[in-house]
Amino acid sequence: MSETQSQLVADVEKLAHTQVNDCYQCGKCTAGCPRGDVMDIGPTRLIRLVQTGEVLEAARAESVWQCVSCLTCSTRCPKSVNISGVIDALRQISVEKRISAKRFNKTVLFQKEFLRNIRRNGRTNELELVVAWKLLGLASDLNPLAALRDAQLGPKMFFRHKLHFMPGSPVKDKAVVRRIFDRCMAERKSETEE
Ligand code: SF4
Ligand code: SF4
Repeated sequence: MSETQSQLVADVEKLAHTQVNDCYQCGKCTAGCPRGDVMDIGPTRLIRLVQTGEVLEAARAESVWQCVSCLTCSTRCPKSVNISGVIDALRQISVEKRISAKRFNKTVLFQKEFLRNIRRNGRTNELELVVAWKLLGLASDLNPLAALRDAQLGPKMFFRHKLHFMPGSPVKDKAVVRRIFDRCMAERKSETEE
């Protein structure tokens, strides 16, 4: 394994707070994954790629954006490997290195806007998030119909209490949340520049 590969493996382990070499490839994580049937590379193979230094290949996989972070894999692992955390780390690396699977460009946009929304409001403001994401989507593919594509879902979600037009109870100290975000981003920046 090259020095760059070793550094990337160490980076994944640090971000995920786990040791990938603890994995003995039993396959329990993939067997329990509710998204395994649509993934191009299942959780077990993703971990194997990271173990062997192929972090960039793992970060290019569509699976990292198909994962819904349900944590089933991490819960089932007999070796307590934080697979879900590894997938989070791979998402981070794929965005930083701009190697995310192209088909998931909008998912990447959503992820970024979701985090910006929490940084701004201290918690998610769903209406603001939907509007911002739709505008970003519109700007990215210049298709006004795309902005209306999910419109029929709005009322259904609203009546099932899955979409809230009013923000929830306000966060008392938004500045603290902002400082947490800023500190994490500054630390990450200094780590990736080292
Ligand atoms: S469940 Fe744990 S030990 Fe088994 S393959 Fe998945 S990560 Fe490896
Ligand atoms: S966290 Fe992701 S990879 Fe793990 S079981 Fe859930 S969907 Fe599958």
